[in-house]
Amino acid sequence: MQNSTLVEGWGRATRSRATVVTPGQGGTDEDWAAVFAGAGSRGLIARGGGRSYGDAAQNAGGLVLDMRGQGGIGTVDPVTATVEAGAGVTVGELVRHLAPRGWTLPVVPGSAGVTVGGAIAADVHGKNHRRHGTFGAQVAAMSVLTPAYGPMEMSLTVNAEQFWATVGGLGLTGIIRRARLRLIPLGSWWVTTVDDEQPSLDRVLERLRAVAATSEHAVAWVDHGGAGVVTGARPARLGALVPGRVAAGRRTPVLPGRGIAWPPVSAAADRVRRFAARIRPRHERSLAELHFPLDALPGWAGLHGRRGLVQYQFTVPFGAEDVLAEALHGTRSAGFAPSLSVLKLFAEANPAPLSFPAPGWSLAMDFAARAALAPVLDRLDERVAAAGGRVYLVKDSRVRPDLLDAMYPGLARWRAVRSMLDPEHRLVSDLARRLRLTDQRISDLVEAGHA
Ligand SMILES: Cc1cc2nc3c(=O)[nH]c(=O)nc-3n(C[C@H](O)[C@H](O)[C@H](O)COP(=O)(O)OP(=O)(O)OC[C@H]3O[C@@H](n4cnc5c(N)ncnc54)[C@H](O)[C@@H]3O)c2cc1C
Repeated sequence: MQNSTLVEGWGRATRSRATVVTPGQGGTDEDWAAVFAGAGSRGLIARGGGRSYGDAAQNAGGLVLDMRGQGGIGTVDPVTATVEAGAGVTVGELVRHLAPRGWTLPVVPGSAGVTVGGAIAADVHGKNHRRHGTFGAQVAAMSVLTPAYGPMEMSLTVNAEQFWATVGGLGLTGIIRRARLRLIPLGSWWVTTVDDEQPSLDRVLERLRAVAATSEHAVAWVDHGGAGVVTGARPARLGALVPGRVAAGRRTPVLPGRGIAWPPVSAAADRVRRFAARIRPRHERSLAELHFPLDALPGWAGLHGRRGLVQYQFTVPFGAEDVLAEALHGTRSAGFAPSLSVLKLFAEANPAPLSFPAPGWSLAMDFAARAALAPVLDRLDERVAAAGGRVYLVKDSRVRPDLLDAMYPGLARWRAVRSMLDPEHRLVSDLARRLRLTDQRISDLVEAGHA
């Protein structure tokens, strides 16, 4: 089925027109190869649940392959503690399917609508990087359709270089068709969360370190002054495994102007969050409520006004805490009030060259999209890069391409593997064009030992 349609990022601030193709469930390898053959000069990109904030799953004037129909969840293999799932299965479906069977995914991002393919292609993280690393690190094996070699099995031992280039590879190495995922046993569908209010950024970071060391999940919300609430979660004593019904997300209007990112509104929301944590710090929550809090507000982007929202997420190494403080103060004093600022802690990075998490702090900030925000974030990008940090590409819509080599030192290696898998540049996205991600330089090839 084909149509020409406007394809938007989840933040609604990026959009472009493309031909959206919906492949049938379980086509043959030949059917899938024909998809590559049919991609014209503007190429094609796979799209999962469309939960990327920016333009990673858009392809202006080309093909966008809607993978949501590629479902199917296999039976759990209790010996290897793994399950096989189609690339279009969402993490929400998997978590609910696995719970009554006593299993769960070790790593879950913040939206239930993220698909297995999208989670691998962005190498997403949860609130427990210190314990389990990223989603890609949970992939025991995957089947990927590549332009140069057709279907390829990839794992830590088979085509390992291609495996790590595809983990975090933003859909630019091939189309992930299904994956075998590692699981961990689940004792309860319920978790106990404890909120802890802290008066300054130093105290928030200190507390977040302590909570991440002792809890299953740890995350902190901060206001522009750095004060905030650190939340830790651990399995509840209640042993019930059966997922309850999840209330449908509330419809939210598209607000005028900057919506909730207008400074007086965001300051009031900050006060409410801290007050709520102070008067009722302890909650019993379902796994779904813990993992996917923003799904309760499916119109979150529209609450930032008609132009939508930009999320700026970066990581900096331990010791570069001044960059976090500058991001919080600097954006506010430039007139941009984030509606939400969330801190996490990352541990060791995995070998994927484009994977975002690296040891240190991660700060994600939601802003109303405005042209004047770009120079403010450009200056921050330079600080982040100089400190040895990086921005999260799957959430990006504006970073300068010349900073990428500093932010992602493995970029040359990734480009070299990618160009072997897709020498004719059939896989392309708006993000790839904007950041010149797939441009192959001779120096890259020499550096990576492929010339
Ligand atoms: C509310 C919310 C909370 C979030 N929380 C987190 C979080 O906690 N941690 C985190 O890391 N991220 C988080 N994200 C970002 C999200 O996890 C990533 O953007 C993820 O990639 C989205 O997956 P998707 O299935 O929606 O893919 P899309 O957004 O459709 O695509 C994302 C990328 O994956 C590629 N892709 C999709 N399917 C395939 C496939 N089958 N084969 C090859 N490539 C494919 C696309 O080409 C694109 O490059 C959040 C997003 C939202 C909206």
